[in-house]
Amino acid sequence: MQSISPETIYRGNSAWEKSLPQITKLTKRPLILGRGFQTNNLRNNIFNDLKSQKLTVNSANLQFDCCYEDISRVKNIISNNNNDSVIAAGGGKVLDSGKYIAESLNIPCITVPLSASTCAGWTALSNIYTKDGQFIKDVALGSCPKILVFDHKFIQTAPSRTLASGIADALAKWYESSITSSKIDDGLVQQAIQISRVLRDQLLIDGGKAFKGQFENNISWQNTVEACGLTAGLVGGIGGEKCRTAAAHAFHNAITQIITPNKFLHGEIVGVGLLLQLRLEEMKNNNKLADQSIKQLFVLMEELNLPTTIGQLGINVFENNNLEKIADFTCRDKSEIHFLPFEISKGEIIEVITNFEKQKIKT
Ligand SMILES: [Zn+2]
Repeated sequence: MQSISPETIYRGNSAWEKSLPQITKLTKRPLILGRGFQTNNLRNNIFNDLKSQKLTVNSANLQFDCCYEDISRVKNIISNNNNDSVIAAGGGKVLDSGKYIAESLNIPCITVPLSASTCAGWTALSNIYTKDGQFIKDVALGSCPKILVFDHKFIQTAPSRTLASGIADALAKWYESSITSSKIDDGLVQQAIQISRVLRDQLLIDGGKAFKGQFENNISWQNTVEACGLTAGLVGGIGGEKCRTAAAHAFHNAITQIITPNKFLHGEIVGVGLLLQLRLEEMKNNNKLADQSIKQLFVLMEELNLPTTIGQLGINVFENNNLEKIADFTCRDKSEIHFLPFEISKGEIIEVITNFEKQKIKT
């Protein structure tokens, strides 16, 4: 069974308005799920638009993360209100929670991403974290969302940091899928890998322009937000579980185990994981192009103000046994690191991270 894409996708400047007739057909008592106060105004507008369509609308916010505490609390709210759908309007954590909750209650989910930080509006996956943001596991869902509304006017209101984060996460698709799946004969997987290569090239060309430029009539911005929010999800949909994440996400998952006062976005951590993956490929797989790729990515990541070391994520790996903790989680049995085509030991992870944190990348 493969869930390739949402049933219906609305995209562009008036996507939300255009989606209203279909949403009102699908649901009479939706629950709008959100999180941050920065997006409250947008959610209020969504709420009022649905009310004026004569729907009975409720809303709820996540308190922490896409975690079991929030999930069971929101499920109770939905049962009490008798809601017949979830409209998840926010970033990746909100979208992942909304999809998970809707599936477990057997009601449809409508995703309305409010930034380009993630492809979670598209996928049939939810990443589960602890209340404090430590990665636990990802859960494969039975289907992609019923409707995805990718409204550019909403995405424009998000801080530019979310766009940078989305670019790093989408870039990882090529580097991760090409190394884990290059020997798979399945044609669809091969095609998915090639889409992720074109996606990477477009982001290398347009990412910087999108980050710095205006929104209005900026084709680089439009292509970049859709690459991050839509195409990255499509790659996972077509490639399926064979087109897997590899070391970059394994490093992400391990780094989130260290709780820091300042929270970093998913893609910001994945970006650092991606540079680490390339160092690992250089050391273990004799990948002579890895250093070139690192330099190329480093230029873009600097331009996008993205962190490029674990230190810049607010973690000193040489303190509090942090290096040990990260290496342990990276190498644990269920880790995506084992999708790499070579064996990897904890000692090697420690070596790569130690050298990485001490180095200065020169371009
Ligand atoms: Zn990701």
